[in-house]
Amino acid sequence: MPRAQFSRIFMKNALSIDVEEYFQVVAFSSVIAQEDWDKMPSRVEKPTLLILEMLAERGIKATFFCLGWVAKKHPSLIRQIATKGHEIASHGVSHRPIYALSPQEFRKEAVESKKILEDLSGKEVKGFRASTYSITPKTTWALEMLAEAGYAYDSSIFPIHHDLYGFPQAPRYPFVFREYGLIEFPISTANLGKINIPVAGGGYFRLFPYTLTRYFLNKINQKENRPFVFYAHPWEFDPAQPRIKAPLKSRFRHYLNLSKTRKRFEKLLTDFSFASLEEVLESLKPLPEKSLRELTGGD
Ligand SMILES: [Zn+2]
Repeated sequence: MPRAQFSRIFMKNALSIDVEEYFQVVAFSSVIAQEDWDKMPSRVEKPTLLILEMLAERGIKATFFCLGWVAKKHPSLIRQIATKGHEIASHGVSHRPIYALSPQEFRKEAVESKKILEDLSGKEVKGFRASTYSITPKTTWALEMLAEAGYAYDSSIFPIHHDLYGFPQAPRYPFVFREYGLIEFPISTANLGKINIPVAGGGYFRLFPYTLTRYFLNKINQKENRPFVFYAHPWEFDPAQPRIKAPLKSRFRHYLNLSKTRKRFEKLLTDFSFASLEEVLESLKPLPEKSLRELTGGD
């Protein structure tokens, strides 16, 4: 069998779902105050159950990065995800990006969300993903806190230039932060010479034609011989969600092609092999080590 085809069939990529409500995205934070979340109609359950169904049909296990806020409101949803054999990981509590939290607040969220999710799932929570991929060169202090809180890995670094997030000098593949023994699974990108572009989920999955996404992901698996991590949110599978009057850029990012997510996602599940982040990271050990100083150019 040609090598390219071999890796297409056997290379397991990581599949992640960030479980949060449609009104909790940071792009809407200027128009919806956190105090008002309780008054908003909840819609997280239905599309999450739809995703669980699509995965069950294909025997795929994924990682669900669950927001503590959602876990408190919908404990049975978290239990259902865990019962079906998926990995439960933490997406913090409040969905505030790290740069909007003090170190004390961040530590509290990292510890609290882990405890809530472990109590509900009955399993150790090993993974963390910050709201809005907000581990950037300015918030690296959070990495030590994650290690102290007992997390084995983080998946919050996006090695790109972006207005809200990004850590362009970070590696594109999983590695260990030497200082903390904490594994990082960076959000996957395509490398186009000097720049990396996001190709593995969220708004980019809805923006690019599926054939382009497939091309870039195939390149990661076949040419670079590496697994990618794909991410999606339940609200992306909910085209009927209420429209929020937000600035144009935020609306574009949030509502673009919502009706296309489901079909594209089904194609993706057919074209690639997937597993949880925990399983993929385990298969990659031993991982290369990088020091934070090396990445941030500090001394
Ligand atoms: Zn999120």
